[in-house]
Amino acid sequence: MRSWRGLPLLLVLVLWLGAAPAEAQTRVNVVASFSILGDFVRNIGGDRVDVTTLVGANGDVHVYTPTPADARTIAAARLLVVNGFGLEGWLPRLLQAAGGKASIVTATQGIAPLKAGSDADPHAWQSVADAEKYVANIRDALIAADPADADVFRQNASNYLARLETLDAEVRQAVGRIPQSRRKVISTHGAFGYFAARYGIEFIAPIGVSTEAEPSARDVARIIAQVRKAHIPAVFLERIGDPRLIRRISEETGAKVGGTLYSDSLTDEKGDAPTYIDMVRHNIRTLTSALAD
Ligand code: ZN
Repeated sequence: MRSWRGLPLLLVLVLWLGAAPAEAQTRVNVVASFSILGDFVRNIGGDRVDVTTLVGANGDVHVYTPTPADARTIAAARLLVVNGFGLEGWLPRLLQAAGGKASIVTATQGIAPLKAGSDADPHAWQSVADAEKYVANIRDALIAADPADADVFRQNASNYLARLETLDAEVRQAVGRIPQSRRKVISTHGAFGYFAARYGIEFIAPIGVSTEAEPSARDVARIIAQVRKAHIPAVFLERIGDPRLIRRISEETGAKVGGTLYSDSLTDEKGDAPTYIDMVRHNIRTLTSALAD
């Protein structure tokens, strides 16, 4: 018998296309606004979902500019997963351009927002306990979008929630080993308010909860004075935002640069934080190694 390699290309293509739809129909087409939400959806949806993220690995969701391709992606989606709390300021116009019939789930639903001035601080995922609420919201939205796969979504979510419980305990134990007087750090933007509230490390950031703003000279002077006065031992870079400011604060105060924290984005597969769990573990390792002594 001739192998498939001997078949004319067109026939192979027809056979392949003929086989594809039965499986494709069972997958839910889900769009997530940024990489961390995309990882949650993959963990809960498993092989029953196709996930696209609008702001991918290493992207900055605060200052994203949507493309015409994003509008087409949303138009074709069954479910759109967003963070809310004002994170995706670019979304309303994109939705208007996209049309389509996707249901929208706000992953922070039911979480009490921390305030940053008059705005909500959007970075609730940095508390693993809040991330568990994200997962429950996404699970319920997937079940509503695709009731036939409800048991799969419930089982996957339950497995993943168990891993997050373990992760939350790991972070609490790791912070517990840092001397109380050293539990304060500087990072680029105000992304760790929920982490601080849950785990008890004080974060001070030169700029607010969005990367859109530039710090004024007065802001920088205030931070430098604060680092000196409070003997803050370490400053941290983030993958997003401007690294020069943190380096300058380090130079002027003698606080060491403790490494890079991942706040608003995962990395690609080769990076330190290809998944949410990797991201939290990387951050806690970086924090404890800089603050331990
Ligand atoms: Zn942010």
